Amino acid sequence: MTDKKLNAEYDIVIAGGGLVGGSFALLLDQLARHSDLRVLLLDAAPMAKPDAKNGDTGADFDARSTALSWGSRLIYEQAGFWSALAPGVTAIRDIQVSDRGHFGATRLHSAEVGVEALGYVAENHHLTCVLQQALQDSSRLTVCAPASVEHIQPLSDGAMLTIKGASLDNIRTRLLVLADGGRSGLCRQLGITMQQKHYGQQALICNVAFANDHRGQAFERFTDTGPLAMLPLSDHGVGRERQHRGALVWTLADSDSNQGEGKSDNASCSAERILALPEADFIDTLQQRFGWRLGRITHAGARSLFPLSLTVATEQIRPGIVLLGNVAHTLHPVAGQGLNLALRDARALAELIVNAHQTGENPGSMAVLQAFLAAQSGDQANTIAFSDLTTRLFSNARPTLALGRNLGLLLMDLMPPAKGWFARQAMGMADRKSIRR
Ligand SMILES: Cc1cc2nc3c(=O)[nH]c(=O)nc-3n(C[C@H](O)[C@H](O)[C@H](O)COP(=O)(O)OP(=O)(O)OC[C@H]3O[C@@H](n4cnc5c(N)ncnc54)[C@H](O)[C@@H]3O)c2cc1C
Repeated sequence: MTDKKLNAEYDIVIAGGGLVGGSFALLLDQLARHSDLRVLLLDAAPMAKPDAKNGDTGADFDARSTALSWGSRLIYEQAGFWSALAPGVTAIRDIQVSDRGHFGATRLHSAEVGVEALGYVAENHHLTCVLQQALQDSSRLTVCAPASVEHIQPLSDGAMLTIKGASLDNIRTRLLVLADGGRSGLCRQLGITMQQKHYGQQALICNVAFANDHRGQAFERFTDTGPLAMLPLSDHGVGRERQHRGALVWTLADSDSNQGEGKSDNASCSAERILALPEADFIDTLQQRFGWRLGRITHAGARSLFPLSLTVATEQIRPGIVLLGNVAHTLHPVAGQGLNLALRDARALAELIVNAHQTGENPGSMAVLQAFLAAQSGDQANTIAFSDLTTRLFSNARPTLALGRNLGLLLMDLMPPAKGWFARQAMGMADRKSIRR
């Protein structure tokens, strides 16, 4: 409910109801359903209108999307809204990894790993609508939007918050969960700094129509201009207007930066130039790099660029305060791991909070928050290193590195354990010992 009367005190206040804060609230809601844990979620933006039921994503051709790992599906099941999300997502049954102009290639099949899909592609509009509908349907959570946290005063046992846009101006909480995104004004206010690394690259995002159906295949292709991912999307249009869609994420060098060590000096493939190409030239350039796996590219939609960087907060916990999602770590979008990692963090934090509440411990105590960091720091470090290293390795055209990665791709196909490891990493299951289904 977005207009529920507020209390002066909560156990948990979540500042930010985006994909991470909202998912975390729903996880808490499910895990704490037999307890009296008081949870308030505030978001500065109004809630989306619920129009995403029965698989109707309401999407246009250019809808933006997110790749959800198999592990994220399990988390959404735990949070109780996978069944509402499922009708509008596209299953990834097969991932093909290849290197343009080289011999290495590998395929990962869902059947080999014993799951129905390696992951899913969800249109952001659909994901947001389903999430926000579930938040509004919850009778235990208090959701207040639009309302923002304006000021944080740390206390010995929590924090006092100044709120704008709600029926109360001041609210006390035992734990403040900061989920206010990558440009967090609240972190700046607390003096929490960020370490940032720029890759000198940009991700070009665009939906593309192909002559052939993708049949649930996702493609990761390493090219002279950088890695290129094509994710399977649902068809757009009906009858003779029907188009088979793929979601392209293409990493390209900044127009004004070097192309990278050992890279072909192909200035015509810089992000700005590719963005500015007329549609027919863009399709030709893309077809050369992607190849003919899905037949002719018949249409390319609106293109946009996202600068690639890695941003990590220097502190994730303080007494009574914890950072979650993009505010804690904003990853290179090409690896498709940002939300997936944040959901694993969210699950670990929610489980620890509910346990603490059951035993009468303050959920904002350093003991609980340190346990959260201990549980997640390995997964965070591995995921960050995995996306950072693969980006640097695969966007470099030096012959020795090209040979190394080609042997790697080849060996992965010949050696099932290595392939299994890669699959688990891509599926967001690397932190769990077995696939529990
Ligand atoms: C191009 C691109 C492609 C990506 N693809 C993938 C992918 O395939 N797979 C994947 O796992 N990840 C992907 N990601 C990453 C993923 O999108 C992010 O990890 C995720 O959206 C982060 O969500 P968040 O809730 O932390 O932040 P946000 O979505 O920024 O949400 C922050 C929320 O906080 C609210 N807010 C801000 N300030 C306040 C305040 N003071 N008080 C209250 N509320 C406040 C805002 O209104 C907003 O709703 C991609 C990212 C990009 C850029």
